[in-house]
Amino acid sequence: MKIACEIIRDLLPLYAEDMVSEKSKEAVEEHLEECEDCKAFYQRMMAPEPSVQFDVEEAKSFQSFVKKKKWSFGCKVALLSVALVMFLVLLRGALLGGAIGLLVQDMVSAKVEVDTDASHYSQYMGEQAGENYRSKCGMEERIFPKEIRADMSVEDYKMVYYNPWDPQYLSYLVVEYDAETYRQECARLASYSVGDYVGNYGVTGFDGQYQLLAMDADPYYGFVYALTDGESKIIYVEIIFCNYFMDLDYEEYIDKSYLPLGFDASSGNPYRKKMLATVTKVKRQIMVTV
Ligand SMILES: [Zn+2]
Repeated sequence: MKIACEIIRDLLPLYAEDMVSEKSKEAVEEHLEECEDCKAFYQRMMAPEPSVQFDVEEAKSFQSFVKKKKWSFGCKVALLSVALVMFLVLLRGALLGGAIGLLVQDMVSAKVEVDTDASHYSQYMGEQAGENYRSKCGMEERIFPKEIRADMSVEDYKMVYYNPWDPQYLSYLVVEYDAETYRQECARLASYSVGDYVGNYGVTGFDGQYQLLAMDADPYYGFVYALTDGESKIIYVEIIFCNYFMDLDYEEYIDKSYLPLGFDASSGNPYRKKMLATVTKVKRQIMVTV
């Protein structure tokens, strides 16, 4: 049975977490064998952190340890259920004591990291970036400049990182360029196509005062893009998260005019409900038809 790419892509996050039925799994694998596009999409989704030269076995076991520890896709629902059960158990004063309580507290107390010092740029962006900032869910970060050069006048910069259970990134960089460098930068950005982004997370477009130069949009992971005022200023933004919503209160950290119009990644956003319903529906369909 031939299943539409869109359906397969909706299922991939669940597939990657081994949270699909055997039948769905077979359907996804069959499709990935035949469809180069989806295969590439999946590989990009699963792209590992670029590794440094050290003991591969050790790195692997560490990675699997981290993966096991990490609460990723589907975790919100699972976590809520688990938290509720634990809460009830704790409430009953049963055997589950301090350790689990501490674990829950640890997750809830994750701090929002904010850095506005542009001289720290390379700690968060590009190949020199620290461990937590290197791959950012495989989103196209090269839309951002490789580094802050002397001929760039940084007007505003902020890097926000929050990881209560899944990493969430909100960064922006606003640069004033001289005429020649502005032209070059626009040309560089033109090599990144403006991907289809309208509709993702309720987005309808951008504030009329800015033009969109480049956009990498992912229906699951969010957006990386560059805007310009059409004269000398370029605004680079990335909003990366998963599970169809952000725990981070992003509007607190970024000028609203830099955000896409209609963007809603709050926990109750309608896009999330729609996508989760689609995943469930598709799963059911596949179970019935395959
Ligand atoms: Zn496909």
